Amino acid sequence: MMKKYMKNSIYFLTLIIFLVIGCNCSFNNKIAPTVDNNLPTNDRYSDSDTTKLPLSNEEWKKILPADVYAIAREKGTERAFTGKYYEHKEVGTYYCAACGFALFNSNGKFDSNCGWPSFFEPITKGSILYAPDNSYGMKRTEVMCGRCKSHLGHVFDDGPPPTGLRYCINSVILDFSAAKKAEKNFTK
Ligand code: FE
Repeated sequence: MMKKYMKNSIYFLTLIIFLVIGCNCSFNNKIAPTVDNNLPTNDRYSDSDTTKLPLSNEEWKKILPADVYAIAREKGTERAFTGKYYEHKEVGTYYCAACGFALFNSNGKFDSNCGWPSFFEPITKGSILYAPDNSYGMKRTEVMCGRCKSHLGHVFDDGPPPTGLRYCINSVILDFSAAKKAEKNFTK
């Protein structure tokens, strides 16, 4: 009886180990950050296709998780100091969580203490679109994704050198991908 119990335990443990290893492997694949399983796959998400995406809000609503939609298409703002990338220090690239377009590099990120991830420059000039925003009685400059025009946050002129700019961005609309180990070693 005891022997059978031991044998079953070993089978069970082996199964658990295989499942854990399988899960870790899948973490390395970069996939569209669709957390809501009821949503269809975001087939517009691509980190290589730079074609503009003039989708309507109705179309975005079908493929974006509710929290991403609220920021991207309704110009929402996540609560200060709560975003997952606020104090994020890893080396890598930040992509648009709606469409996968590359927006910022980790080497353009700095500690602003303002409560949101802050960058002093985008990855390229075309990564970002700008528009005046006079809402809430303030004069600000809105920043949007250069590919899909999703709202990202605002840019202010109180950043560090060399640009003097502070791109204040919602974590929810960012999708981070760590640089490959080889690239990390190369930049050391
Ligand atoms: Fe985008």
